[in-house]
Amino acid sequence: MGQLYANIIVDISQEKLDRTFSYLVPETMQNLIHIGDVVEVPFGKGNRLTKGYVVELTGTTQYQISKMKPVQEILVGTDQTTGEDRLIALAAWMRNTYGSTMIQALKTVIPIKKKIRQKERKTLILLLSDAEAEEKLRFYAKKNQKARYRLLEALLEEKEIPYELAVGKLNLSASVIRTMAEQGILKTESVLVYRNPLHQKHQGAYNIALNEEQRKVVDGIWNDKVHRTSLLHGVTGSGKTEVYMELIARTVAQQRQAIVLIPEISLTYQTVMRFYRRFGERISIIHSRLSAGEKYDQFQRAQNGDIDIMIGPRSALFTPFSRLGLIIIDEEHEPSYKSETTPRYHARETAIERAKLEGAKVVLGSATPSLEAYYRAKQGKYALYTMTKRARGSALPDVEIVDMREELRNGNRSVISQSLKEAMTEKLQAKEQMMLFLNRRGYAGFLSCRSCGHVVMCPHCDVSLSVHNHGRMVCHYCGYEAKKPVVCPKCGSTFISTFGTGTQQVEQVVKKMFPEAGVLRMDMDTTREKDGHEKILAAFQNQEADILIGTQMIVKGHDFPNVTLVGILAADLSLYAQDYKAGERTFQLLTQAAGRAGRGEKSGNVIIQSYDPEHYCITAASRQDYCGFYEEEMSYRMLAGYPPAVYMMSLHGTGKDEAHLQTAMDYLVKMMQRMPESARIRVLGPTAESIGKIQDEYRKVIYIKGEDLQILTGIKNKLEKYIKMNEGYRTVQIQFDLEN
Ligand code: ADP
Ligand code: ZN
Ligand code: ZN
Repeated sequence: MGQLYANIIVDISQEKLDRTFSYLVPETMQNLIHIGDVVEVPFGKGNRLTKGYVVELTGTTQYQISKMKPVQEILVGTDQTTGEDRLIALAAWMRNTYGSTMIQALKTVIPIKKKIRQKERKTLILLLSDAEAEEKLRFYAKKNQKARYRLLEALLEEKEIPYELAVGKLNLSASVIRTMAEQGILKTESVLVYRNPLHQKHQGAYNIALNEEQRKVVDGIWNDKVHRTSLLHGVTGSGKTEVYMELIARTVAQQRQAIVLIPEISLTYQTVMRFYRRFGERISIIHSRLSAGEKYDQFQRAQNGDIDIMIGPRSALFTPFSRLGLIIIDEEHEPSYKSETTPRYHARETAIERAKLEGAKVVLGSATPSLEAYYRAKQGKYALYTMTKRARGSALPDVEIVDMREELRNGNRSVISQSLKEAMTEKLQAKEQMMLFLNRRGYAGFLSCRSCGHVVMCPHCDVSLSVHNHGRMVCHYCGYEAKKPVVCPKCGSTFISTFGTGTQQVEQVVKKMFPEAGVLRMDMDTTREKDGHEKILAAFQNQEADILIGTQMIVKGHDFPNVTLVGILAADLSLYAQDYKAGERTFQLLTQAAGRAGRGEKSGNVIIQSYDPEHYCITAASRQDYCGFYEEEMSYRMLAGYPPAVYMMSLHGTGKDEAHLQTAMDYLVKMMQRMPESARIRVLGPTAESIGKIQDEYRKVIYIKGEDLQILTGIKNKLEKYIKMNEGYRTVQIQFDLEN
């Protein structure tokens, strides 16, 4: 066997751990040493024996062998490492897979310690008997006092709720709470506690029995000795959450712990309370509103063994449980599981890696799985389970596709088709609610000249400025603002006007069409203030309006039982985005939007308006046909060579000097062409990114595709090293991004 070298991080409490130190691995240790092991190595001037972590093992080294020292001893092997050691091993894996420095990876995985402060916490406690409270509820309903109704209803159910929860999730003002306290309905009590964002005593009150389909899934996953990872493909409302909870209960019964990842947006009050009702105090929740200290406290409680279950967004994956048995990723397809900052890890792949280190299972759940997950399930890498029926028996909605070209031919130039108008009229008469969804990222139109075609652009970014109600133009990328010009800045023509339809325009059309209807709009403008988002949703939930108009924001996670109509205006827009995932995203959005209709007793209708009504993404979404969509989309990815058919890594370069950036990127391509692995990869670019300039920084990208992930990783490591050592790369930033 050749000489083996270990790259080791010495003492992670030091700030200098950005670099690793290379050590010789003695012959006798070669079969015993693993990445993630804690070892003892001689370090520093006096060769003091110091604790270190093995983050890489290689057969080559760039250092002088005669000066290298050997690893002394394996203190803790990977089979008996502590939770923290395993998290460090996970960080090493992330660094290697996604490209970052070790310190960036470690900071992602292990939150920085902050002094723990005890904090006073307020709780609201119900003072009325149930009968009195119900009496009062009827009174509030009659008086149309919605805020008080909401709070009392929650209190009747829970008896006490944390103050922050009332103000946050229930959207109540302090004055409502004060008034109700003065009337003796509730009292507020301050308790000195270990900061817990939620705190309830509910265990045991839970008694939903799984149906046949759910039980099969639970038993299948639980007894599976072959697959670490399972994919649960179940339509919205099929009872996936109940499946998760049963698996969690079994995990906890074995003295092991569970992590549940959810996209932030689906963390609704109802979902939270479902988990609390079932698991009581052994659960904790982190979300983006917690301060760093509060988040640290929750991780501390996990480490101390005070809780068994952690729910939260992406970063909850790093909860320091030492006996982790289960990781659940709900809405597995959500883009928010991919980190946008270095290391750009994907929570799905990172969860699977962590589960491997911990001997845990992973369950991925979605109504519209990502192509990656479904592909791997079909390959047999994951176990696949399907749930096709809604658990409470309600039917899937009726879907109609309206051809907007036909609509134009019939002389209707409105954004609302004849069909949609009729359906809206009907539902308004029946006093039912509806949602109009604009599949679009821009929130308002852009300004363009009809004489010369000039489009008003941001001076710092390669994007058009968006026109807002208040007569100003805004750049959504850098925040640049300018007054709307009255003549074309290029040719001086006065024929300059707004193009494109934003939510504001839709709102105007709808208000004109249905003057008596209550309309709410949710977009960038209306949600700017803190909690604006939740206030609008709460108002709609309380049926303070008939129609909710919005962008992507309104689609996800929310359960409005009185919504029986969903109108999707211009379904195709996102199909034209320059991203190979555009079709997948459109299908997911349409399917989810359609899934908003008819969640309650009444059945629902969905109307999809499209200029491209035969497109498979749209027809498949209208039939709620995931498998049909998957087959079409996968054959396209195979043909065009996109993930998951191949692995793809992008190299994003940014810099203020365009020519210099081009040279720097060109050189990286040249280097790759000279590498021995070059025959196994395809390199595309450099080309300008779809937005070539943001905030005066030019942006270029290189794509590298290949069948073998190891090869891509190896190339990345070589380039990373080169970039780090080379002067020419000081003034540009190069970031690696692995698609997976
Ligand atoms: P999903 O997570 O797939 O959207 P949920 O688990 O939220 O589905 O279930 C949808 C609804 O059906 C919830 O109100 C839930 O309480 C109910 N439900 C789920 N499973 C059962 C069951 N076995 N018996 C009765 N109701 C159920
Ligand atoms: Zn002009
Ligand atoms: Zn800009």
